Amino acid sequence: MKVFKFGGATVKDAEGVKNMANILKDYTNEPPVIILSAMGKTTNTLEKLTQAYYYGRPELMDIFHKIRNEHLQVVEKLYKKESKDKESDLILIFNKLESIISDNGDGPPAKDILYDFVYDMIVPFGELLSTTLVSQYLNHTGIKNKWLDARNLIRADHTYREGKVLWDLSEEYISNAIPPILNNGEMVLTQGFIAGTVDGKSITLGREGSDYSAAIFSSILNARACYIWKDVPGLMNADPKIIPEAVLIDRISYGEAIELAYYGAKVIHYKTLKPLRNKRIPLFVKSFVHPEKKGTVIEEDYVEVPVTSYIIKNNQVLISISPKDYSFIGEDNLYNIFRILLQNHIKINLMQNSALSFSICLDNNDKIDKLLKELSSDFNVKFNKNLELITIRHFTEESINFVLKKRKTILEQRSRATIQMLVEN
Ligand code: ASP
Ligand code: MG
Repeated sequence: MKVFKFGGATVKDAEGVKNMANILKDYTNEPPVIILSAMGKTTNTLEKLTQAYYYGRPELMDIFHKIRNEHLQVVEKLYKKESKDKESDLILIFNKLESIISDNGDGPPAKDILYDFVYDMIVPFGELLSTTLVSQYLNHTGIKNKWLDARNLIRADHTYREGKVLWDLSEEYISNAIPPILNNGEMVLTQGFIAGTVDGKSITLGREGSDYSAAIFSSILNARACYIWKDVPGLMNADPKIIPEAVLIDRISYGEAIELAYYGAKVIHYKTLKPLRNKRIPLFVKSFVHPEKKGTVIEEDYVEVPVTSYIIKNNQVLISISPKDYSFIGEDNLYNIFRILLQNHIKINLMQNSALSFSICLDNNDKIDKLLKELSSDFNVKFNKNLELITIRHFTEESINFVLKKRKTILEQRSRATIQMLVEN
């Protein structure tokens, strides 16, 4: 069997949902397991909803209604006259979400309830909504499928917003629930990005984590292949929106793809490849718009001709950390810095040190303020926002000049295969 993952961009509107059905109708003989993300930018909007709720902001209900309207409009476009009958399942889900954020009129949650916990109560609704909507539409068009709740299939620990998968338990649930449905000739449709804890709480696996979910299902079910359907032709050597000269990579090894994903190539979530590699399951990245085209296959290591690839990450922050007592950046100070980073679930994109200062480059997100505060109690901390991190795999001097365009680097690091440069945006 195969596992298919469809990202948010592929189902951002009614046309996208129809296109998805169009692709799936060719697979009714060999029903796949389908993993779906939230529609379009819903997850971003749900993050805003979480903040508005947690901090008691006035725009709360406007955000809620925006999400509700966007989804109901898709239903209306999909079914035209019958749409009123088809809305009811979604409305039930919206009622549940509304009852969480309205908190019986008590206002925002008490401050001893962790933000990350509240986040994981609210943000999974994006995937619950998209899968409910799409499952219903597929059944309506004759593509038989069963909707399953991924929170009953993937078990994770209590690391909110970055759940660590409990593989043994997940294996038990997934291998009991899914094969009978497939054997019965039906597809399985479930959510990416979300999981459940042993005590029945919702938990997310990290932003853009649906690819990782697809890899978990593929690995546990020993899939023949995993397919990621995207709005780009496949894995490219750069983001074509930034570098128009980007070219498609037809075939690439797991090892090289892991490097690209690690440095931030957006096409695949960085946790996806390990479970696939361990079971030697090939990963196909294919165009949702041109399903007939081959796209990219990521598979077993082989001797490959290195392709120069560019990864550009915007909105970076550079933090420089120095001990207040003028002591060296040695093992003891590093130990304390890393403890704080670990506790805040921070992923470092680049690091470098001198005698008295340790510098790290990070994505600028809602974790940074808290991190800066905690670091400042033991260290002198300086930071610089709005930076761009450029990584080139298999670089040449020409490729460096091509992306730098005469800009000066603030920080630079090179190894034989990779150069990373931080520049002002
Ligand atoms: N919907 C989630 C996100 O946008 C998961 C995903 O798209 O992979 O982060
Ligand atoms: Mg998404």
